[in-house]
Amino acid sequence: MTAAYYSEHLETMSAGEVDDLQSRLLQRHLPALVARSPFYARKLAEAGCDARSIRRPRDLRNLPFTDKAELRESQLAAPPLGEYAGVPMRDVVRVHASSGTTGRPSYVGVTAADADAWADIAARVYWCEGMRPDDVVLHAFGLGFFVGGLPLAEAVQRIGATFIPLGTGATDRLLSSAADLGGTILSCTPSYARYLAEHMRDELGRDPRTLGVRRVLVGAEPGGAIPAVRDRIADDFGAEVRESVGNADVFPMYAATCDALDGNHLLAPERLIAEIVDPESGDVLEWEDGAEGELVATHLDRECVSLVRFRTRDRVVVRTTPCPCGRTAPRITCVGRTDDLLIVNGVNVWPSAISDVVSSVPRTTGAIEIVVPGPLPKVDPPVCVRVEHAAEPGDLETLCATLEGRIRDKLVVRAKVELLPPGTLPRSQAKTRLVRVLEPAEAGQ
Ligand SMILES: [Zn+2]
Repeated sequence: MTAAYYSEHLETMSAGEVDDLQSRLLQRHLPALVARSPFYARKLAEAGCDARSIRRPRDLRNLPFTDKAELRESQLAAPPLGEYAGVPMRDVVRVHASSGTTGRPSYVGVTAADADAWADIAARVYWCEGMRPDDVVLHAFGLGFFVGGLPLAEAVQRIGATFIPLGTGATDRLLSSAADLGGTILSCTPSYARYLAEHMRDELGRDPRTLGVRRVLVGAEPGGAIPAVRDRIADDFGAEVRESVGNADVFPMYAATCDALDGNHLLAPERLIAEIVDPESGDVLEWEDGAEGELVATHLDRECVSLVRFRTRDRVVVRTTPCPCGRTAPRITCVGRTDDLLIVNGVNVWPSAISDVVSSVPRTTGAIEIVVPGPLPKVDPPVCVRVEHAAEPGDLETLCATLEGRIRDKLVVRAKVELLPPGTLPRSQAKTRLVRVLEPAEAGQ
């Protein structure tokens, strides 16, 4: 297999070759970063570490983590990009922002070289997901600050495919351009794909398969890794579904599902060192099949806002068995955000697991919202799960009992299901959160 955006050299290296490559790059990048970033100079000094003592990826465990709160504080203290920017603003060619929850967004700057690297990795990701030069890509991600929008146009164009910049909130335009321009790929969040299928079926009386896309490429939220969600989208559109993993602070996309559909290959070994750590203790876990922990990322050639041991808060499961596609990189599947975990009577419950169970029950739309009364992770049973029923749900009491029984059997947790009419819960074109923590005033009602 040879193609412009498949690198046989990088994608079939042995673990030892990757370690050697990353060691060489790390020895060059880290001392240079410390020299230009007061943030990391101070952080390493406080931890009593010398950047030059970090020779190989496994030495990174001697360095402290970087978390999102530190980045936010640094940007407030040293605007606009923080003391970790590492380059002056005149070298920054574009600024994006990560989806902040409240207040000031967290800005991410890129230099010309960074923008080039983003496009290069994203093109590799798209190629792995099956995008080819004759594809016409209906891009229904936000085209503003969001890293899953504009930066990906360049990647699509590098492959030689056609980028249709639809953005969000443009369902009518999406439907007309799919027909007018012959869209072959739909690129969007899994929740939007589901919304679009429902909208076509219920509001327009149209089979979603008439959209005519051959692939749906999803990302930005964990749904694409949930088998029942993926199968439903595939069935709705009569299309293959592939997922990518990315993050505003790390890279817009850096891992993708191949045709084997068994996790997302890490596709940027020359630009990113990934570690898996125990989210509670911070202990480093080995890259072994079945390992589960938080993904931690270190850039190897980033110029602006280069990060060292950044805690992504993405909880992933690792696959390392040989993959039929020939790529040797480990695969990750994101099972949730570490800050979304529910602990119910001592049992860990991931919102994505509840979503998976609900999606497997017919007569629901698959959309859910878990409502918790207080701060995560501890939740007293029963867990309140709001579920949308389908347009023709049959007997609601039976459906409710089926859902509660299925959640109890599969996840060993007691749930109280509240059924809602289809289309009630918000669908997002950027990121959908499955958990809503009630404000104190609401909780008291
Ligand atoms: Zn593969």
